[in-house]
Amino acid sequence: MNQDELRHWSKRAADWAADYHAGLRDRPVRASVRPGDVAARLPARAPEEPEPMEAIFADFEALVPDAMAHWQHPRFFAYFPAAAAPASMLAEQLANAMAAQCMLWQTSPAATEIEQVMVRWLRDALGLAGHFTGTIHDAATTATFCAVLTMRERALGWTGLTQGLAGQARPRIYASDQTHSSIDKAVRMAGIGQENLMKLPVRADLGMDPDALARAVAADRDAGHLPAGVVVCVGGTSVGAIDPVREVLEVARAEGLYTHVDAAWAGSAMICPEFRALWDGVDLADSIVFNPHKWLGAQFDCAVQFLSDPGPQIRTMGLRPDYLQTPGAEEITNFNEWTVPLGRRFRALKLWFLLRAEGLEGLRARIRDHVAWSRELAGRLQDDPRFEIVTASPLSLLSFRLTGDDADARTEALLERVNDDGRIYLTLTRHAGRPVIRVAVGGWATTHADVLAVHDVLGELAGSDD
Ligand SMILES: *Cc1c(COP(=O)(O)O)cnc(C)c1O
Repeated sequence: MNQDELRHWSKRAADWAADYHAGLRDRPVRASVRPGDVAARLPARAPEEPEPMEAIFADFEALVPDAMAHWQHPRFFAYFPAAAAPASMLAEQLANAMAAQCMLWQTSPAATEIEQVMVRWLRDALGLAGHFTGTIHDAATTATFCAVLTMRERALGWTGLTQGLAGQARPRIYASDQTHSSIDKAVRMAGIGQENLMKLPVRADLGMDPDALARAVAADRDAGHLPAGVVVCVGGTSVGAIDPVREVLEVARAEGLYTHVDAAWAGSAMICPEFRALWDGVDLADSIVFNPHKWLGAQFDCAVQFLSDPGPQIRTMGLRPDYLQTPGAEEITNFNEWTVPLGRRFRALKLWFLLRAEGLEGLRARIRDHVAWSRELAGRLQDDPRFEIVTASPLSLLSFRLTGDDADARTEALLERVNDDGRIYLTLTRHAGRPVIRVAVGGWATTHADVLAVHDVLGELAGSDD
């Protein structure tokens, strides 16, 4: 393929993309393929001779879209939606065109400096204190891993990096039992070990008990362990649990522990001042992560980590071998030193396009709509005797189950019918030991009618139950 052909096919791809989005409503939200179906339609070996792009493109159209869950479908209410604003998709096309690798300032001055400015724009948009700086990662998991490694090294006086963990006291990490599995993964990858992640049971309001945290830290100190850090949950993935942020951070501070706030989903809502009470006290944190790729509208992937002082994380993650030295290194930021991989994508561009094309007011309006619509849906489900709301987050996540006999098995069966039906896409979780169906409102193209349609579809499919 030469550059002239690239020009031609890029235009074809842009047309395809526009048609795809225009036709999304007519597709089932979730693919109905069985495991192995797609692979079975691909040749066993790579072609020896070049194939015409016409054939490749035709195969893409024939094979791929029908075998994908459509994350930009307006009736995608599963997991947390990954909203992609058109402006962010456009920016990604341009970043792809340059195929840039943004590991150092020198390899990508614009990427580095737009990233710095976007982190500042978002810090201010979320109402965070002016001392926060930060960086953009691929995923919240990466940010959390960096924060947990920093907790470990800070507690060990930066000896783990060079000597390893053998013979050291056990670093202990504290989190509520509502935190995301990325915290478990982080302690495992950091060599801290699952047994040293102290998962504290939550109170009735699904928040961590700060007194229980203080007691756990004291008990660990008595046992000769090394309390290292606390991960604070703001918007848990299962049902949206929120810790009492200020109280937990105050206990952590008093104990000298490093703190990381996981607001991967809920953080986007903080562009609306009326939701900031949900994370009151967050300015006391050392590290905060939120994913603009979930609810803000920056196309996947894009996770922003704010740091009150980047020093400890850079000391933990940063390496500067001879071949990466850049002259004048004091005045410039090399973001690879803040994270896991050396190579980095140009993720700031889509934030720049998104924030300008929509404006903060446009983004706030969308989030407010999602919250209001999800409350309206919760009300309708609650008023329908067939359903029972189990949890309703103050944001746009709710969970429910069927009422009546054998509710658990019938709830699970209902979810299967819903997802086979294809008009909406929902997922299951367990709450207090029982299955519940989640509804997460947050799609870029989702309308009021789409959200209310959840009740209609559920009513129809629940009705056929008995
Ligand atoms: C989605 C989510 C994560 C994981 O996000 P990735 O960016 O996919 O790693 C972590 N924590 C919470 C609360 C989440 O909702």
